[in-house]
Amino acid sequence: MGRIELHAHTVLSDGAFIPPELARRAEVLGHDAIAITDHCGAAVEEIVRKVRAECMLVNRFWKITAIPGVELTHVPAESIPELAARAKKAGAKIVVVHGETLAEPVPEKTNEFAAKCEDVDLIAHPGLITYRTARLAQEHGILLEISSRKGHCLTNGHVVRVGKMVGAEFVVNSDAHDFDDLLTDEKAYRVALGAGLSGEEAYLAVDQNPRRFLR
Ligand SMILES: [Zn+2]
Ligand SMILES: [Zn+2]
Repeated sequence: MGRIELHAHTVLSDGAFIPPELARRAEVLGHDAIAITDHCGAAVEEIVRKVRAECMLVNRFWKITAIPGVELTHVPAESIPELAARAKKAGAKIVVVHGETLAEPVPEKTNEFAAKCEDVDLIAHPGLITYRTARLAQEHGILLEISSRKGHCLTNGHVVRVGKMVGAEFVVNSDAHDFDDLLTDEKAYRVALGAGLSGEEAYLAVDQNPRRFLR
């Protein structure tokens, strides 16, 4: 079985390729599925409409599954519940929130508002996430990301340490903006081990958790 990527960008925000080309390159690299999660602020319906159209094209003709989504990015934290609900209503199958990475000045409380929102599926690169916020995410069934992306990956070890204390579920994502950011399963597995997961936990994060999300 191939890789499932739950976080990737295209020209619909700041990625290098249109969604079909990224999906095609992912398929050739051995992916079973890729979520197109372009950066999004208030123009939720517009972005979701475009992402859905591109994913439908891919899904009609190719074996790879393209999952339409968005990544709410540097939005006011208080607006996350409203924007996430609107994204789901517009047909997004995955709502990612751009978490409080050390690499960028993401607004404070972004992690917290994401972690208590029913419409959020994944907190990307959650930075120095607190125990309390990780527990909220676990209670809401929200996945915590281990990132292979430069800068965002600085806190992978912390995310794993805190997430494990509360029984949170992890996924390993590329946050791909270009095709050479995409991961193979083997590389994703090594990133998971490097973040401090055991072999069995790494298998859950790389394979089982994203596969369950896909279903
Ligand atoms: Zn980006
Ligand atoms: Zn991203």
